[in-house]
Amino acid sequence: MSTLPANGSVRPITRWGEDVMHRLNQPVTDFGDELQTLVADMVATMIAAEGVGLAANQVGVDLQVFVFDCPDADGNHVQGVVCNPVIHLPEGKDRRLDEGDEGCLSLPGAFTKCVRPDFARVTGVDQHGEPVSYEGTGLLARCLQHETDHTQGTVFGDRLSRKYRKRLFAEAEEFAPEYPADWPVSPMAVHEGHHEESQAT
Ligand SMILES: [Zn+2]
Repeated sequence: MSTLPANGSVRPITRWGEDVMHRLNQPVTDFGDELQTLVADMVATMIAAEGVGLAANQVGVDLQVFVFDCPDADGNHVQGVVCNPVIHLPEGKDRRLDEGDEGCLSLPGAFTKCVRPDFARVTGVDQHGEPVSYEGTGLLARCLQHETDHTQGTVFGDRLSRKYRKRLFAEAEEFAPEYPADWPVSPMAVHEGHHEESQAT
């Protein structure tokens, strides 16, 4: 059962290249109605896009907040809302790298390998200002890092080598015609053979 806010409205997803995606976003200081609506809409948008995480700037809002509903390495789904996230990564001998597939709802359809620590913990506050902490392995570790990056204006393309970045953009271009400008408000075009094995954030 979901503990995430429900009854939100689906908003169009902002793409890479828009300014709000590439600069440090504003910390959340007002936990009023506007934030509650934003968070519910972000959850609805993430679900409509079949993603595992979504940051506010991915719906064009300059605020440090993300929502997620993502499985860890054991298949346990963890979900939450994090405002003003701070990422904590293992160091020294505890730091192991995972070269898993990564995708972004703001560059829909494209995936590539991206090297990240295989464990992450994020701290912050929820949409009511209460302290929260989430940690995990597998895709969840990747998601927590990817979403915190978004709040800082970093996209995962920034973390790739030139070769991988080029390949990623080529793949995104190939899939671009399937995604309407206001996706996922309007659904993507049906296309046979579309790969669905990976999940984007
Ligand atoms: Zn993303």
